[in-house]
Amino acid sequence: MTRASTSSTRWRRPPRRRVAEIVARLRCFYGAPRLRPHGRPLDELVLTVLSQNTSDRNRDVAYVRLREAFPAWSDVRAAPVEAIEAAIRPGGLAPTKARRIRAILDAIGDDDLAWLADAPVAQARAFLCSLPGVGRKTAACVLLFSFGRPEVPVDTHVHRVATRLGLLPAGVPLEAAHDIALRYANDFDPYEFHVLLIRHGRRLCAARNPKCGSCPLRSLCPTGR
Ligand code: SF4
Repeated sequence: MTRASTSSTRWRRPPRRRVAEIVARLRCFYGAPRLRPHGRPLDELVLTVLSQNTSDRNRDVAYVRLREAFPAWSDVRAAPVEAIEAAIRPGGLAPTKARRIRAILDAIGDDDLAWLADAPVAQARAFLCSLPGVGRKTAACVLLFSFGRPEVPVDTHVHRVATRLGLLPAGVPLEAAHDIALRYANDFDPYEFHVLLIRHGRRLCAARNPKCGSCPLRSLCPTGR
């Protein structure tokens, strides 16, 4: 048995009341984020591919350049991969991301993915995860940000902060982390849950030297205590 599965076996989901207190304190500290679903799943899908291993700013620059060079997604599909690569270069990993974007668009064809708004969530998720290079986090981003569907994208900040707080078992793989996070999505606003953990990961609960002395969650946190 691996270390991850051992710790997962011992882990128990914290009581709802304790999770609610964590969310309430973070909301008080960072403010209440509000989701405005934009209804453009294909845009979100490409944007999320561009966000891999780069900053938000570089992702946005790459996205704007791509849309300026190819206003319609059918234009991207018809373009040489080298031209896509040139457009998205400021976002980093351009050769890999260009090939991935083209492969996704080729697989989707003329589908605008609007049907994801009303399909059963499990079916919508399975479809997205069947696309080339698309994993649970990207699928969750598309469903949550485009349509407000109950998904919690587990990125590096969410994974780290949730693990330290005992909301996820230590060492849990990302796939399993998404399954557990889905249960929180049923009890809490998934967008708020996602954004507050990211804000906390960026501001106080950093990967190195978390500022536990200034943290509003310290009395609730097994790591900080
Ligand atoms: S007490 Fe420390 S480890 Fe726990 S959530 Fe706060 S900053 Fe992170």
